[in-house]
Amino acid sequence: MINLMSDTVTKPTPEMLEAMMSAEVGDDVFKKDPSINELENRVSKMFGKKAALFCPSGTMTNQIALKIHTQPLDEVVCDHYSHIYQYETGGYAFNSGIAINPLIGTYGKITAQQVEQAIKPDFDWLPSTLLVVLENSCNKGGGSYYKLEEIKAIKAVCDKYNLKLHLDGARLFNVLVETKDDPIEIGQYFDTISICMSKGLGAPVGSLLVGNELDIKRARRFRKVMGGGMRQAGYLAKACCYALDHHIERLIIDNNRAKSISELVTTLPYIEAVRPVHTNIIIFETKSEKACQDLIDHLKANNILCVQFGQKAIRFVFHLDISEEMMPKIKSALESFTP
Ligand SMILES: *Cc1c(COP(=O)(O)O)cnc(C)c1O
Repeated sequence: MINLMSDTVTKPTPEMLEAMMSAEVGDDVFKKDPSINELENRVSKMFGKKAALFCPSGTMTNQIALKIHTQPLDEVVCDHYSHIYQYETGGYAFNSGIAINPLIGTYGKITAQQVEQAIKPDFDWLPSTLLVVLENSCNKGGGSYYKLEEIKAIKAVCDKYNLKLHLDGARLFNVLVETKDDPIEIGQYFDTISICMSKGLGAPVGSLLVGNELDIKRARRFRKVMGGGMRQAGYLAKACCYALDHHIERLIIDNNRAKSISELVTTLPYIEAVRPVHTNIIIFETKSEKACQDLIDHLKANNILCVQFGQKAIRFVFHLDISEEMMPKIKSALESFTP
């Protein structure tokens, strides 16, 4: 089976499982799990931050970030494609009692000017703009990402108006292998960053929230109240450490495979449009809804799984469990389809 549904579908490699089996563990609610302590240390240092918190999911790290940076009646500004707006069950309202101002950016990216214009004046009848969230890479934007200059410009607006800045970096490493940006510099621009280990990095479970000591201390309380305080989860942390050692550099392979398939997709007669490919995600549209459904069925008949991403759109995500031998199979299945 060639599973292009998401980069969350990867399974631990035998080497990763071996590393997990050798993990030294303890009770993390008492901060006594050496493997989790090691992982939190490593990831916070990587981004030049003082602390990090290991959580069961990226939804939880994002939700905790919203919680620590806001009070009820505040407002968060983000692109309307953002994961926090689209795919977290409306948790910003449920967990934090805040409003959201989803801006229409370009492929999931907003500009400093848009952020500045979105800041609400201080009136009793308006929510207070308190936080900006960026997503790098942007999933629904087709894996698009911000350049450092764009981030810097948004950070300058945040500083000017005293806003916090959070990065949903679920796939940040897919970006870093492209831009070669220094993670420590990126860390300087954000108050908190969420990193997923269970996407392209191939760990089975886990995300980290990095930030300053005070923010992460408060984050620990919210993790506990959300039911995310885990005990001997060092087995999972060990998988994440293994992924940091062995699965970062190879992400460029996934990005390049996505580009290579998108070059073919662009030439196919039944395709209407392909979103620009920047990292490991391709989103393309077929000319009709029926063609979209039929293509999904045709791919399935060829043992290729993908997801429908809108009425006429399909998403492919490339990851660790896609091998070089699968590439010609994907290409020939796309070429052999007639709507
Ligand atoms: C996957 C993802 C998350 C977190 O998802 P979980 O499944 O809860 O780990 C957050 N943001 C983005 C952009 C994602 O793609």
